[in-house]
Amino acid sequence: MAFELPPLPFAPTALEPHMSARTLEFHHGKHHQTYVTNLNNLVKATPLAMATLEDVILATVNDESKAGIFNNAAQVWNHSFFWKSLKPDGGGAPTGTIGARIISDFGSFDAFKDQFKQAGTTQFGSGWVWLVQEHGKFKIVKTANAATPLTQGQTPLLTCDVWEHAYYLDYQNRRPDFLQTFLDKLANWDFAAANLLKAG
Ligand code: MN
Repeated sequence: MAFELPPLPFAPTALEPHMSARTLEFHHGKHHQTYVTNLNNLVKATPLAMATLEDVILATVNDESKAGIFNNAAQVWNHSFFWKSLKPDGGGAPTGTIGARIISDFGSFDAFKDQFKQAGTTQFGSGWVWLVQEHGKFKIVKTANAATPLTQGQTPLLTCDVWEHAYYLDYQNRRPDFLQTFLDKLANWDFAAANLLKAG
C-alpha cells in the first residue's frame, strides 16, 4: 500500500486572502505531492513500504544512509499536520484547556505569540515552528528542514511551515507577516485541542 497525498481539509480558496489558492496549488499539489512520490519511490520493495509513516520516520532518523527516506517521510507527515493546523476564520486566542495552558505556561497569549513569531522568524533557512507538549509543559520549538518533534519525544500540537515555498507567492520575503497572519487568522486551535486530548 503506497503512501498517499491527503486531500486538503478545506477548499483551496477557503483561506484567502491570507493564503491563496495559488499557494495551495503549489504547496499541496506540487511540494507535498513530490514528497509523497519520492517517498514511495525510495521505499518501494523494501520492508518500509509496509510500515506506517510514523514508523518510517522513527526508523530512519539519524541514519545518514537513509536521509532521503527520512526527509521525504518527515515532510509528508509535517505537511499533513500543517494543513490541519490551518482553518478558515482561525487564529486569535484559544479558549478552553488550550487557552488556559498557554496562559499558565507562557504567561499570556501575547507572550506566546511573541515567542512563536520570534522562533519562526529566526529559523535560519527552511524549517518549521511548533507548539508542542513535552513532560507535561507547553513549549515552542523550531526544527530545520524536515526535522520533526515526533522524533524528540515531544507531542506536536500545532505547526507553521516557514519554508519559503509556504509564503513566497503571498508574502514574498516577509516571513514575519506570514507568521503574524497565521497567528491572527489561520491557526486551528480545535486541532491543537484534539491533539492535546489525544496525548492525555
Ligand atoms: Mn512546505
